[in-house]
This record gives sequence, C-alpha cells and structure tokens, in this order.
Amino acid sequence: MEAVAELPFEMGMIYEGERIRGPDMYVELGGPKVKYKAELTQSREASEIEDGLVKVIGPDLSEMEEGGRYNFGILMEVAGEKIEKDLEAVLERRIHEFCNYVEGFMHLNQRYDIWCRVGKKAYGKGLTSLKFLGMALVKLFKAELPIIEKIQFTFITDESEVVEFHSRALEIYKARDARARELKDEDVDEFYGCVLCQSFAPTHVCTVTPTRIALCGAITWFDARAASRVDPKGPNFPIPKGDLLDEVRGEYSGINDVTKEKSLGEVERVYLHSIFDHPHTSCGCFESIAFYIPEVDGIGIVPRDFQGEAVNGLAFSAMATQAGGGKQSHGFLGMAIEYMRSPKFLQADGGWERIVWLPSQTKEAVLDSIPEEMRDKVLTENDVNNISDLKDKLIEVEHPVVNRWEEEPEEAGEERDLEAPVMELPGEMVGLPAGSGVRIILENARIHADRVILKKEGK
Ligand code: SF4
Repeated sequence: MEAVAELPFEMGMIYEGERIRGPDMYVELGGPKVKYKAELTQSREASEIEDGLVKVIGPDLSEMEEGGRYNFGILMEVAGEKIEKDLEAVLERRIHEFCNYVEGFMHLNQRYDIWCRVGKKAYGKGLTSLKFLGMALVKLFKAELPIIEKIQFTFITDESEVVEFHSRALEIYKARDARARELKDEDVDEFYGCVLCQSFAPTHVCTVTPTRIALCGAITWFDARAASRVDPKGPNFPIPKGDLLDEVRGEYSGINDVTKEKSLGEVERVYLHSIFDHPHTSCGCFESIAFYIPEVDGIGIVPRDFQGEAVNGLAFSAMATQAGGGKQSHGFLGMAIEYMRSPKFLQADGGWERIVWLPSQTKEAVLDSIPEEMRDKVLTENDVNNISDLKDKLIEVEHPVVNRWEEEPEEAGEERDLEAPVMELPGEMVGLPAGSGVRIILENARIHADRVILKKEGK
C-alpha cells in the first residue's frame, strides 16, 4: 500500500478486491446501463507522446451528477523500444488490474464492456477528477512495466466523442481477433497461460491457444506470446504442449501439468473444448457462459450483457456465481464470444449441433460462424424463453439434439421421460423418521433455486 503525496487516495494490491455497491457509488462510468464504453491501448512513436499527460474530454467527475451513469472511454497510449503492436492487448488488460489498486475506484470487465464506479467516500476525500486516476495509472504502469518509456491517458466522457471512440475500438478488437483466427493449434509449438485473474480467483489458470482465445475475450495467442517474451516474470507464460491426450476434447499433458502447478494442485485436468467433466476453469471476467440444459440435453449460451433471464430461467449473474471463482463446474463454462468462431468450438460436446439457445444479438454477431444448416435451428429469446416450450420448438425446427433424446437413456441404462420429469426424495426430507420406507415422488417437478446452501444442524 502506498500513499502518493499529490493523490487524494492510497493505492496498492490491498484494494484489488474492493467492490463499490450501488448505494456507495458516487458515479458509474460505463457499465450495463449505458451503451458506449470501451478501453483501448495503442502503441505510438515516442515523439507522439507527452509522458505523464492525462486529458479529460467531456465532463470531469466534479461536473457529473451524483448517482449518474455516463458513457466512458479510456485511451492509453504507450511508447518504448520494446513495445510492439502485439503487446497492446495485454497492456490494455492491465488497466483493469491497476485501476483496482486505487482506493475507492472499481473497474470490472474489459474492452467494450468496462464497468467502473467512483465511491462516495473517495469522492469526498478528493477523487473529484479523472486526472488523479490517470496520474495513478501512469505511476503504476511505469513502476510495474519498465518497457513502457512514455505513457499518456485520455478519459472520454463527451457523448459524441465516446461514440466515435467506441466504434474505433470495436474495429481494432475485430482486427486483433481476425489475425489470431489465421492460426491453428497444430501450427504452433507451445501455448500460453495467464494468471492475472488469480487475485480474484486463486485457482484460475487461463490457457490461450490459437483456437481458444482467453475467456475474457481480450488476450489472443499472439498477445500472450508477446507478453510472456517481454515480461517473463509477469502473469503470462509459455505452456509446452506435451502429449496430445485427447484430440477431440483438447486435452494436453503440458496444459494439465502447468495448470496443476499454477492452481496449487487444485486443477489436474483440463479439456479445452468441452463443458463437461474437466472444463477450463472460469474466473469472473468471461464474456459469456455456456450452460447445460438437462431437460433437452442441449447447451445454451448467455452473454454478460443480456438483460433478463436465459431460457433456463436464470440470469447471467446467477449462473456466473455457479461458473466463476476459478472452479471447474461440470456443465458450466465461462468463455469469450470469439471462441464461438473457433473451428474447435465445444467440439467434444457436439459444437453448434448441441447449441439450442442463445440471445438474438449474439447469434447475429457470430452468424457467419454458425454452420448454415444450423442457423434456423439455434433458437433465441424471440423463439422461446422457457424450458417447457423449448422442447416443442426444438422438435419443430428438427434440431439435431432431438435425436439424442432417444439414444442417451439407452446408453445410460435408464428411461428418461422428458414430458413428465420425476424426482424421488427420501422421506427424511419432510421430517419423516429415517428408515420409514416412505419416498416422496414429485411428478413434472420444476424447481428453481438461485443457490442451495447446505448447513450442518445446529450451525
Ligand atoms: S481472463 Fe484469463 S487471460 Fe483474461 S486477464 Fe484473466 S487470467 Fe488473463
């Protein structure tokens, strides 16, 4: 923790986990309630940068209304002999980390999805200008990454400037992702890892391969490679492939070894291309969640910015609790939107032939990557928004997942009646004595719970 004479706050890792809840917030910058937000890092010639400069285009914090929500852009420009284009995305991702070092300032997510808050207390203590935030970031970036020789920040809150900045940033993200799409896993000798999010999710280890962009959607294989070369002690590192143990699931002995080591023994096996058994761990930064829908044996996808409930009746936030925190959650996977464009997208689970539902906006965004014969079969909120209608709709559009309904019970050696789900519970669950021999049978049961808490008696 460090107090900087000219700054009205302290900063350090100690503040990294700080959350600013609605009632404690002075203003919100970006976030789900506004349309235009983005952060972008660009490398420049040294002569183009005034080292340490911080500009604010549009109203500054002191000119904003308390409780207000504002469109927001962060432009970081850097120069240095060792700074190359490939490093831009990785440096950009560190904005999240360093903003969170600032007492009373919260930063979530990345790229076009940033969500920041200034706390009331921090504002009261003097965080009344974004220039202070910029000064802190300049200091932190230069202290942590000596390859940065010159750095300047521009914060944008002016309405029309943010719109223009946002669309420029989207073009740049698109170009970064498109470049990575040209490579295949088989073309490279090693993959790369990232543990930047371990400050929030201590057992989370990202593996980044050409066909599997990091789940935050911000780090491609090229980005992670460049970062591991210039900052070998930083959060990015090479992962030797080792042996290919399962081509379809995407299991490599090298990934298993490195993940085990970096997760302190918590995670021993990783499947790159499946949401079952040993899925990739998820921290909290994922752009979307793939979730298993047992009632139809299919997979749904919900992106972070989807308002309302997914087809299974759960909102993104409820499923994020289940998927995130660095765990491996059988049937849940945090992933990048770009991963849906991968030729190996969930290939072990059936790929697009197993996807039964995703919101229309996301479907539109990745439509080119959906096989033509599946485009009308993957349903959206405009077709169906609850599980009971989902099954009928899937039959109607002749979704290939319907064929599984006949096959799977035989494989599993049991009958499964999708029409009337039956659940058996022991009588003890309703207070009958143990061994009463009574069982409770729930027919056509629909149970929704945001969370199940198991408590020991007397606690
Ligand atoms: S989600 Fe993964 S790649 Fe992205 S910053 Fe976190 S650890 Fe790194």
